[in-house]
Amino acid sequence: MSPSSGEGRGVAGGTAAAAAAGAGSARSTGADPAAARPAAGPGNDLEARARAAAAAARTPAAVEIYDTTLRDGSQLEGISLTVEDKLRIARELDRLGVHYIEGGWPGANPKDDEFFARAAEELRLETARLAVFGSTRRVNATCEGDAVLANLLAASTQTVCIVGKCWDYHVTGALRTSLDEGIAMAAESVAFLVAAGRRVFFDAEGAFDGYKHNPDYSLAVLAAVAEAGAERLVLCDTNGGTLPHEVYAIVAEIVDALGAPVGVHLHNDTGCGVANALAGVRAGAIQVQGTINGYGERTGNCDLVPIIANLSLKMGVETLPPDRLEALTSVSRRVAEMVNRAPDPQQPYAGTSAFAHKAGLHASALARRADAYEHIDPATVGNGTRFVVSEMAGRSSIELKAQELGIDMDGATIAELIETLKRLEYEGYQFEVADASLELWMRAAIGWEQPYFGIESFRVEVGRHSRSGGVPSGGVPSGGVPGSPGARRSEDEAMYLQCEATIKLWVGDQRRITVGEGNGPVNALHNALLAATGDHYPEIDRITLTDYKVRVLDTTNGTEAVTRVLIDSTDGSRTWTTIGVSENIVEASWEALCDSIVWGLLHSDAEAPADAG
Ligand SMILES: [Zn+2]
Repeated sequence: MSPSSGEGRGVAGGTAAAAAAGAGSARSTGADPAAARPAAGPGNDLEARARAAAAAARTPAAVEIYDTTLRDGSQLEGISLTVEDKLRIARELDRLGVHYIEGGWPGANPKDDEFFARAAEELRLETARLAVFGSTRRVNATCEGDAVLANLLAASTQTVCIVGKCWDYHVTGALRTSLDEGIAMAAESVAFLVAAGRRVFFDAEGAFDGYKHNPDYSLAVLAAVAEAGAERLVLCDTNGGTLPHEVYAIVAEIVDALGAPVGVHLHNDTGCGVANALAGVRAGAIQVQGTINGYGERTGNCDLVPIIANLSLKMGVETLPPDRLEALTSVSRRVAEMVNRAPDPQQPYAGTSAFAHKAGLHASALARRADAYEHIDPATVGNGTRFVVSEMAGRSSIELKAQELGIDMDGATIAELIETLKRLEYEGYQFEVADASLELWMRAAIGWEQPYFGIESFRVEVGRHSRSGGVPSGGVPSGGVPGSPGARRSEDEAMYLQCEATIKLWVGDQRRITVGEGNGPVNALHNALLAATGDHYPEIDRITLTDYKVRVLDTTNGTEAVTRVLIDSTDGSRTWTTIGVSENIVEASWEALCDSIVWGLLHSDAEAPADAG
């Protein structure tokens, strides 16, 4: 029953400037600049400075991070999480150190029921508390007989978040009931859950729109739920249309009017999700609800990754327990892997390009003074500086890259490598993104050969089969004669593609021949390669291919079109990209695939066979 570290944080627990004094890891000024620095020029009068000081005093010293990736985030099209996925993501969130993990809406789907049942048994959270989500009681009913509220209690979490209407138009238009009943539904539901021993957060649906249209009604709802025992009044920008200056003004007015702990739940429909969260905190919100990587329906929820980093490193607001900020990048990438989305390379703070620098003047200057070109030290969020080598690459960027990788190269080898890279880029290779393949080329330049396996040959067969064996069932389908161009498939006539790859290779002095099946040639080759090497290198099991991109280049040398394949891979904590180029798509894919596996083994604890070079 002891409260989490988030409990008891006041709305105005200290000024941003005071809190920033303790946050030394950022290279930026640390304090909120608008608050710390008086405006210059004619506007620099006492009144303006007083206003700035008042604004600074609104910013709390610490905020609670309330993650809703498992509930709101899973609304993103294409995301479908198993119970196992949800448990794994919850462990990652706990490792990051968020205060609350919203697990789902029990009763709304059977998976969420199972999640809460298994979470009670299997989840051992160190930092975070599990929260359950649901809604207020139904119109003109009682809380006692309400199925939604009963499901919330059955989930057995200490923290419960319920959504209720806060916009008069929603109450009269959508619920078709009176404004008084709207207030009663919210307040009675909160009181019912509090009486059952729960801590209750109230998600005020449409709070910002509601406040714009009828502030008195929104305040009446919020005051009633606060009176009924809601510990957080969470203002939701349900349609995501609110802008930062509006969030600031409305949060500030509600905090002032009610003096109660306020949170914000924001979406990214105007591209301002992160900015809105920062504005909400500056106005006095002590809880931010969002999702990892901004997953969520439509354009997503506000992205907790930059929000946590910005609050911690730039605004001096405490978010995570000490030393957890370094987990930000790896949690972001692992969650992307678990929801089966390619990580966004341009994601602020955690993206692979977030601290990537192109060759030339900039790169050599960076080597001398990193803080001149990077807004924070990337290590504070668990990311790193990356030097990108392109055909503009000069000697200095190759030297930097070699240094970064710990590869010892003399001048002659570097000159030779530059020539090789120029030739490869002319053929269609591009090493700006494929830095795992680049690393293998660099190692090859100093005479390294991959020791893990040697390929003797491979072969791929592509076949198309009929599920029914080609025999029409029930006569001629309405689309036309089976097999004719006009025949569209019915279920029985559906054709499916089956690929089979055979690989002959050597692991040490053992010759192995394996067959892999797949729904495409690359998939089949991958399976055959895993079958041939997996028992010797169990590390291979951790390597998964997360993205596969194909591009046909027809302008490289004016003759044959060539295919460029890029494969993104991950082992759960690192991601890397490899490249293959060929006139044949299977060969290009094979090259990128082999590079991916070799790089993954090279950077794991895998031991090559003793007798292999
Ligand atoms: Zn939402």
